[in-house]
Amino acid sequence: MNFSSKNRSVFISKAGSVEYDLLVIGGGITGCGIALDAALRGMKVLLVEKKDFASGTSSRSTKLIHGGLRYLKQLEFKLVHDVGTERAIVHKLARHVVIPEKMLLPIYEEGTLGTFTTSMALLVYDLLAGVKSGERRKMLNVSGTLKQEPLLQANKLLGGGLYFEYRTDDSRLVIELAKSAFAAGALLLNYAEVNGFILNQEGKVCGAKVIDHIGGAAFDVKAKVVVNASGPWVDILRKEDQSLQGKRLQLTKGVHIVFPFEKFPIQQAAYFDVGDGRMIFAIPRNGITYLGTTDTVYNEEIDHPTCNRADVEYLLKAANSVFTSLQLKESDIVSSWAGLRPLIQEDGKSPGELSRKDEIFISRSGLISIAGGKLTGYRLMSEKIVDLAEKKLNQKFSKCSTADHYLSGGEFHSENDFKSSCDYMLQLANGYVAKEIVEEWFYRYGKNTSVILKQLQAIKDKYQTIEQACLAAEVTYALEHEMIVTPADFFIRRTGKIFFNREQSLGQIPEANTLIADYLSQVNAQSKKQLTEVQQEYATAVSFR
Ligand SMILES: Cc1cc2nc3c(=O)[nH]c(=O)nc-3n(C[C@H](O)[C@H](O)[C@H](O)COP(=O)(O)OP(=O)(O)OC[C@H]3O[C@@H](n4cnc5c(N)ncnc54)[C@H](O)[C@@H]3O)c2cc1C
Repeated sequence: MNFSSKNRSVFISKAGSVEYDLLVIGGGITGCGIALDAALRGMKVLLVEKKDFASGTSSRSTKLIHGGLRYLKQLEFKLVHDVGTERAIVHKLARHVVIPEKMLLPIYEEGTLGTFTTSMALLVYDLLAGVKSGERRKMLNVSGTLKQEPLLQANKLLGGGLYFEYRTDDSRLVIELAKSAFAAGALLLNYAEVNGFILNQEGKVCGAKVIDHIGGAAFDVKAKVVVNASGPWVDILRKEDQSLQGKRLQLTKGVHIVFPFEKFPIQQAAYFDVGDGRMIFAIPRNGITYLGTTDTVYNEEIDHPTCNRADVEYLLKAANSVFTSLQLKESDIVSSWAGLRPLIQEDGKSPGELSRKDEIFISRSGLISIAGGKLTGYRLMSEKIVDLAEKKLNQKFSKCSTADHYLSGGEFHSENDFKSSCDYMLQLANGYVAKEIVEEWFYRYGKNTSVILKQLQAIKDKYQTIEQACLAAEVTYALEHEMIVTPADFFIRRTGKIFFNREQSLGQIPEANTLIADYLSQVNAQSKKQLTEVQQEYATAVSFR
């Protein structure tokens, strides 16, 4: 059976009738990572997500698989080592969505780090993170730095350090994980929210009450172990479990703003000083450049964090002080996103000083909650949680195998295999689809691109233009294999088009909504509502209050 919302009623009746070994609450990177690990070990797994997969923090990050350079400043050596090692593994598992990207760290007089300290920090980073020899840091003098990025202001520039980060598409990584977990036997449901726990006579959690936000029905789920992987919402569920004592979350908000490439035409991704001790990224990507992030204490409602005027002013000021010739303005911004870091509160520490380490809480009822961490470290976090679940189940399962399990679409055995697979997709497209579209799909779906191309071949004659046929083929793939229910799922979480390809997505939204409504037999009221919702999301990305 496909990972498609068309099968939703079958999935829901299964979810309500089987006793699971493990129920995972939350379909972000943490929850989907846990579901994959547990399913591969042979556990019966159900994951429920209250909105869409990756709709929380996991679609709102800086989109880097970090080596964790900034943690050196906080002397978190083990964290640097762990995330550095992990990023090599995650790259191997999903080369199509985890791509090496050189990062330039310009060094200015009066900056946080001098030339010597930057060189040493990058060296320690390379060693701790186990960076491959071809990707080790390179120190540049002033002219070398300006050659690498001519838009940097030259005044007071001392040089630069070039090191490697890995760029990702956070929500694509999550969806590839979710698809892999499903293929390994887990059941994953989006738009299904836990709103209470079920306890046995000894007061131990043995399931949860779930609401299906699409069909409207409520159902109970039985599970031997329940994991709360709900990111910024972790404490809400701990409260529901009456276990919100001791350490709590401190949410901090981080925003990113997006410019058309012509307005911010950097040729090189950069990580630069802001002047208040923080550093931010400017990352060019397919026709746009995005800038971020901020880090401010957040105590407002969790469901819809947005980028406000103060965030915009902070980022514009930072960029304009380093890329002085550009004089970027608010009206140059074409979109934005805001995310919440689920960090652990530590008295007296500023947002930037709070540790990014993950933390596990086990309550009296047996509920396991996990918060903190990074996208990058999802696999290690998952392993720890599934080890704990295995202990609780008191049963022997297979060993953790996620380090060698390619994610959906990512079965590339080497860099050469990756390149020749891309060439193969171009051949399959046989010249009737533009090379850029095939490549865009390849970096989104990896080997699964062939499924879309075959679909396109079958339907292309029904459409007036190849662009319409391409949209139909891609939306159909998301409907049949990626559990989309609404156009927002497609334009935000499956493709990121609302952020990175605004003009094209505006024209495509109504057509995609019709395709979705027809495929899922949605009633008129639902299809109208979801059209309004995606259009609101589109507008919110450029309205700053
Ligand atoms: C601005 C910013 C930049 C970042 N940049 C990076 C980066 O570049 N690299 C990196 O490695 N990390 C980065 N991070 C950190 C990383 O994004 C997070 O650590 C990670 O995404 C957290 O994932 P999660 O699955 O724990 O939480 P989420 O992604 O928030 O997932 C939790 C899910 O639980 C669901 N949920 C909540 N309550 C319920 C319920 N009752 N029932 C069912 N489902 C529920 C939510 O809808 C949500 O989808 C960044 C974070 C931020 C905020």
